[in-house]
Amino acid sequence: MELRLYDTLTKEKRIFAPLDAENVRMYVCGPTVYDFAHIGNARPVIVFDVLFRLLRHLYGEAHVKYVRNITDVDDKINDRAARDFPGLPLNEAIRKVTEQTGRQFHADVDALGALRPSVEPRATEHIAEMREIIERLIKGGFAYAAEDHVLFSPQAMNAANSSLPRYGALSKRSLDEMIAGARVDVAPYKRDATDFVLWKPSKPGEPSWPSPAGIKAEGRPGWHIECSAMAWKHLGEHFDIHGGGIDLVFPHHENEVAQTCCAFHQQRMANYWMHNGFLQVESEKMSKSLGNFITIDELLADWPGEVLRLNMLKTHYRSPIDWTMKSLEESAKTLDDWYRVAADVAPGEPAASVVEPLLDDLNTPLAIAALHSLRGGDVGALAGSLRLLGFLSESAAQWEGRKQQASGVDAKEVERLLAERTAARSRKDFKESDRIRDLLAAMGVAIKDSKDGTTWEFSR
Ligand code: AMP
Ligand code: ZN
Repeated sequence: MELRLYDTLTKEKRIFAPLDAENVRMYVCGPTVYDFAHIGNARPVIVFDVLFRLLRHLYGEAHVKYVRNITDVDDKINDRAARDFPGLPLNEAIRKVTEQTGRQFHADVDALGALRPSVEPRATEHIAEMREIIERLIKGGFAYAAEDHVLFSPQAMNAANSSLPRYGALSKRSLDEMIAGARVDVAPYKRDATDFVLWKPSKPGEPSWPSPAGIKAEGRPGWHIECSAMAWKHLGEHFDIHGGGIDLVFPHHENEVAQTCCAFHQQRMANYWMHNGFLQVESEKMSKSLGNFITIDELLADWPGEVLRLNMLKTHYRSPIDWTMKSLEESAKTLDDWYRVAADVAPGEPAASVVEPLLDDLNTPLAIAALHSLRGGDVGALAGSLRLLGFLSESAAQWEGRKQQASGVDAKEVERLLAERTAARSRKDFKESDRIRDLLAAMGVAIKDSKDGTTWEFSR
C-alpha cells in the first residue's frame, strides 16, 4: 500500500514519493510564543504528529526529519512583554515571555502525546540565513530596499520569464485581482500595493540585528522570511512536505514559496502542501470576545491529553471540527475502555485495517472505526495500532490513578469559578457569567440555577 496525501497546490490526492527515502523531510509552522496555545493550535500539532509517526513507521525512525519552528520575534511578543513586565528593559521582558510561553507550549504538546519534532528552530537563531535569502532576492531583482525596509515584489516574480512558480498559485489567487483589490492606504515605501515586508526597522529598545541590503539602521525580519530561512537551514532548498493550518495558505505560505523559490531558483519549495481545517467550539468560531476561547492548559486540567488527542482525530484533518463537550465525554469513555482492554497487553504489529485508512490521506476517523472492530478480537493488534497513533503512553493503573487525581482538583476549582460567576451575575456582567458557564461546561461540569442558589455536578 502506498501513502497518498492531499496537496493544496495541485488540489488532489497524490501518491507520496519522497525526494530521498533515506531522509524524508517535513516542515510545519509552529507557534508564535506570546500566549497560551488554544485548542485550535493543538490541531496542527496532533495532525502532523500522526503523519510524523506514520512516516517513521513507513520509512524508519532514523529516516524522517520533522522541523517545527518557534517564532520568537514578533510584534505580538513585544506588546505582551511590555504589558506583562513593564518594569523590565524590553529585551529582558521579551526573553521572559518567550521562555515562559515556550515552556508552556512544550508541556501542553507533550501531554497531547505529540513527539518532539527532530528540530525545533527558533527564528532569532536564524537571522544570518534570513539576511542571506534577502540578499539573494535583491540580487535576483525580486526585492528592493526602501526607507530602511526590504520588500518583496510579487510582480517582479511573475514578470520573470523563468521556471519559477506563479505568485498566487498555492492560494489560487490571481495577482491582477490582488492588485485591483489592494487597499488604498498602502505604506509609502512600497512600490506596489502587493509588495510584502522581508525586513523592517526596529523601534528603539526593540530586538534588532544588523540589516541586510546596506541599510544602516538595525532592524528585524518579517514573519514569512523566518520560515523560509529555517526550512532552508534544516531541510534544504526543496523538501517533501510543508504543513500548517488552512489560515496560513495566504499570505504566509504563498510568501514562503515566493521567497524560497526566487532565492534558490526552484520550481517548488515543498512537494506536498498540507493544511488542517479549522476548529470551532460548540458550533461557534473560537474567539476571546465570544468567551469560548479554550486553552490546551485549561482542558488538560480536566481531561487527560489522550482524550483531547482522540477527540481531535475523530474528525478528518481537512474537515472543520466542532469541539463539543458531548464528543469529549465519548472520547473519554472510549479511552477508558481501550486502557482497560489493551494498555497492559504486549503490543503486536499495527493492524492493516488501521494502517490502510491512514495511508489514504490520514483518514483517522476510518482508522478509529477499525480500532473499534479490533476491540473484541485481536487485542495485541489493537494495542500496537493504538501506539502507532500515539495512545497508551501509560499503564492501565497510571491512567486510573491520574483520572482520580484530576477529579480531586476539580471540585475546588469548580467552587472558585462558581463564586466568580455568582459575583459576575450580581453585577449584571452576563457576558462574564456566560463565559464562566461555558468554561465549566468544557470542564465537564453541569450547573443548575434555582432560587435557592446554584448546584453543580460532573456530567461525565
Ligand atoms: P498561530 O500561533 O496563530 O500562528 O497558529 C499556530 C498554528 O495553529 C497554525 O498552524 C494555525 O493555522 C493553527 N490554528 C490556529 N487557530 C486554529 C483553529 N481554530 N483551528 C485549527 N488550527 C488553528
Ligand atoms: Zn511558517
